[in-house]
Amino acid sequence: LPDPDVVALTGPDVADLLPRPIEETDKYRRGVVGIVAGSDRFTGAAVLCVAGALRAGVGMVRFASTAEPVRYVRTRWPEAVTTVLDGTEPDPVGKIGRVQAWVLGPGMGTDERAHALARAVLATDEPVIVDADGVTLAARDPSLLRRSAPTVITPHAGELSRLLGVPRDRIEARKLEHARRAAAELGVTVLLKGMTTLVAEEDRPVRVNTTGTPWLATGGTGDVLSGIIGALLSAGLPGYEAASCGAYLHGRAALLAVHGGAEAGAEGPIAALDVAEALPEAI
Ligand code: AMP
Ligand code: MG
Repeated sequence: LPDPDVVALTGPDVADLLPRPIEETDKYRRGVVGIVAGSDRFTGAAVLCVAGALRAGVGMVRFASTAEPVRYVRTRWPEAVTTVLDGTEPDPVGKIGRVQAWVLGPGMGTDERAHALARAVLATDEPVIVDADGVTLAARDPSLLRRSAPTVITPHAGELSRLLGVPRDRIEARKLEHARRAAAELGVTVLLKGMTTLVAEEDRPVRVNTTGTPWLATGGTGDVLSGIIGALLSAGLPGYEAASCGAYLHGRAALLAVHGGAEAGAEGPIAALDVAEALPEAI
């Protein structure tokens, strides 16, 4: 049955919401995003998350992690300003520098070092998008998400299952209900990923994303999405708008990438970085 509290976001809606640079802008006004992602085991998540933010049009990326991901990010994205954190810093956030929003979590691991870093980032007054290992850390330590600044979480069904303590198959059978419940109980914007992506926030209709392709089901695409949302938050979009516009652009970029220059209807596989590279055309 049609539900008046569920709405689709259209291309024109996104075009209205997306920040575009005015003539007299500068990189700080366009948005500085702090990305805390990756670990010596998961360097790729960091590279992909930075890719998403840069190609979504951020003013500047400040990236912080352990030595290995920093080395990979510096090599692939000389645009990013990087900070190596070994986990012993008394004030890691101060060492990273000023930002207008944060991305926390992709590939960062869930050890004590990661937990301390998550605590520091979530203690700030800036908006944070929490993804992947960041969501797993929040499932283990619910105090992390008790903050007054805007927070977006971007779980897939497995991550939301850990966060709510509800079996994954129950979430998959009733995605709308669980996205709404998580948003209400945790007081955050919830972007629940999967075949259909939903964005829920208390007192707002659930937004259903209308773009995307099953070719997106490949490692690393979620990391690109978190970078896109971080870029939009740093430009000043509220959590609900940043999450739903981010999902729309991510799906639209994926569609452009799977079609490539091919004849109408033809499709082929994509890797996560292809999604990031198609963002300028999507935008
Ligand atoms: P993650 O689970 O973090 O790796 O993110 C995967 C990304 O791919 C998310 O943006 C999902 O919404 C998207 N995705 C996964 N499976 C599908 C599917 N079957 N159809 C469309 N999009 C999908
Ligand atoms: Mg993921």
